[in-house]
Amino acid sequence: MELQDLAAALLATSLEDLYENAPCGYLVTVPDGQIVKVNRTFLTWTNYQRQVLLEGMRLQDVLTLPGRIFYETHCTPLLHMQGFVQEVAIDLKGSDGIILPVFLNAVQDCDASGTPVLHRITLFDARERRAYERELKASRDRAEQAIQLRDQFLSLAAHELRTPLTSLLGNVQLLQRRANRENNMSTRDLRSIQIIADQSIRLNKMIESLLDVSRIETGQLAIERKPVDLCTLIPRLIDEVQATLDERQIEMRCQLQSAIVQGDELRLEQVFQNLIQNALKYSASTTPVTVVIQQLGAHVAVEVHDQGIGIPSGALSQLFTRFYRASNAQEGHTSGMGIGLYVVKEIVELHNGRITVESAENQGSTFTVSFPIATDLVS
Ligand code: ADP
Repeated sequence: MELQDLAAALLATSLEDLYENAPCGYLVTVPDGQIVKVNRTFLTWTNYQRQVLLEGMRLQDVLTLPGRIFYETHCTPLLHMQGFVQEVAIDLKGSDGIILPVFLNAVQDCDASGTPVLHRITLFDARERRAYERELKASRDRAEQAIQLRDQFLSLAAHELRTPLTSLLGNVQLLQRRANRENNMSTRDLRSIQIIADQSIRLNKMIESLLDVSRIETGQLAIERKPVDLCTLIPRLIDEVQATLDERQIEMRCQLQSAIVQGDELRLEQVFQNLIQNALKYSASTTPVTVVIQQLGAHVAVEVHDQGIGIPSGALSQLFTRFYRASNAQEGHTSGMGIGLYVVKEIVELHNGRITVESAENQGSTFTVSFPIATDLVS
């Protein structure tokens, strides 16, 4: 044998070998599905003899019943229309009844006149990928269940804690009034009672925030709609917060006489309280916090600006997600539950408003809230 012939023979054998023992199943069928060529991999998977398949069996005959229906209603029309199908998940059924999930790819060959003559089909074993997908889904289900359980627990705990706390707060305030009236307590005792009252109020706020989360989750956070002048509300709020600070100054710039929005005064107060308290909490006491109120077209925009720790860029997109805290907030040991901004965003959106943030780590932050101005109320 000539060297050239030998090389050609070897090449033919190895191509044949490649085809027969490929890591995927190969089939050639005529357009109605009748099998005309099949490789060994497919025979091993399905446990069929080659001649059995080639003596009149169709691809549809080696599919499960749902697979057959899917092939006829999905793959055949697609092959007819676009000439190929890709990555179709379908189940093979072997001669011994064993089911093998595969991904099917098929190409339609036509003759010179455009009439379909053959379908060339490649099948990939999908067992590993399916097992991986099942595991992924199970993990996601478990994570969702854990989140649901956490939310249920927090909502239940908040409800249960509210009643004893209300009683505690009521009684401590009663005690304070009586002590003031009767003037019979030492300064030290009065101070202790004040601490109990302050901490109870703090606890009450945390519980109210948790209840807000649960109200949002169940679609029960409702707002009143009355005219509220932000140019009155915000300065009053700043005065109240300022009174609790020792040396720190909150600066305010308001360029408007009034900025009336339709909304819920208490909820709007909660929005600005939160943003101002965050600005104070996440910045050094030597740096200023500035609030700017201005009109932007048909909207009033309120900016709360600080020169504090800022927000890492990777955290910006998750900032308004419940229970989320950026890594630098946790590293700095500032306490918090990560629900303030989540509730703020919800309240702002219930007012048809928008909240945005501009920040970079160690570069300070500016939170901007804007609401439509209630034009029909402005004379
Ligand atoms: P909390 O302050 O209780 O953690 P928030 O929902 O109010 O929860 O805020 C969520 C997170 O957003 C904070 O944990 C912090 O990482 C970040 N953040 C909010 N405001 C600021 C700010 N002014 N400066 C820097 N980071 C902030």
